[in-house]
Amino acid sequence: MKRVVSILLFSLPLCLWAKEDGMAENAVPLVEQPIESGAESLSEAPAETAENPAGTVELTETAENPAGAVELTEAEKLIQQELAEIEAENLETDDVAEADSLAIEGEDGAESESGAESEEADAELAADMAAADSASADSAVKSLFLDMTASAMPSESRRISGPYGIRTYRMHRGVDLGLCHGEDRTIVAAFAGKVVKTRNQGRRRGYGKYVILDHGNGLTTLYAHLSKWNVKVGDTLQAGDTIGIGGNTGRSFGAHLHFEMRYNGLYIDPSTVFDFENGKFRWEQTEIDPVALQANEDFYQKELSKHRYYKVRRGDCLGKIARKYGISIRRLKQLNGLKSNMIRPGQVLRCS
Ligand SMILES: [Zn+2]
Repeated sequence: MKRVVSILLFSLPLCLWAKEDGMAENAVPLVEQPIESGAESLSEAPAETAENPAGTVELTETAENPAGAVELTEAEKLIQQELAEIEAENLETDDVAEADSLAIEGEDGAESESGAESEEADAELAADMAAADSASADSAVKSLFLDMTASAMPSESRRISGPYGIRTYRMHRGVDLGLCHGEDRTIVAAFAGKVVKTRNQGRRRGYGKYVILDHGNGLTTLYAHLSKWNVKVGDTLQAGDTIGIGGNTGRSFGAHLHFEMRYNGLYIDPSTVFDFENGKFRWEQTEIDPVALQANEDFYQKELSKHRYYKVRRGDCLGKIARKYGISIRRLKQLNGLKSNMIRPGQVLRCS
């Protein structure tokens, strides 16, 4: 059974997202929303499964791209510019950001969003992944052949608490796998490889403790929010060898593993090769075409560029915001997974 992942990349996201509402306990807003069929819902599903619809985004200093960060695409620049403009209009509401963060505590297996700080942590992580890429980079145009029979599920978890895709106003580059109390939280190498990075971004910052493996064929994998790692840089691991114990370090609400796959600088949605819910690989052998990965990335960036955001000010109501963007209140609530008409100053709402 040999398939080309390029087919999967375009067909899979819809069915994956469609399945999300049943199991992603933290994807609260999606539960009552019907999944529409067709292209439009494909573009909107990821944002609606975002773990933080309540918008705890702090927008200060978001335009800063720290040293070593990956270059922004045009679409990302536009989004940042737009967010900066929103920020300039809304300086007086910044003091509520902390209260917003508290409001989503208790969600299970989720990462929180906190604008500038998260972006900085994202950028550091991406730079670490990029450094790992170069260690094993080959030709960027060559396909990656993966023998999945020699792979291992990185975690025993069978619950995706956050899918790969658009989350609020940026990309979520991995799959979040919820880790419940009492479950085996051992995290193992998905493929044979070498440890190229262990890093601690902080107990409450970014991705907490993470480990990056280089698999020697242009593929790198990342395992984040660990409570501890049992490996050191330079260690050689077989698929299934223990990396560490999953946890809740970094900006994480509820223990979960954040797992990323990247091939020569292009991200792979791990759900296209692993069937996490059933604890198995999707194909015995698979070919990952970088052209398809790039096309998938372009799709996401195009979708992101369509989104518009508004930061709620004191005295705003849904009706006023809906009118401003020429959409219905129902649509505004649907875009943001709101169950009631309650909004808070400082909350960022997606408006298109
Ligand atoms: Zn994650």
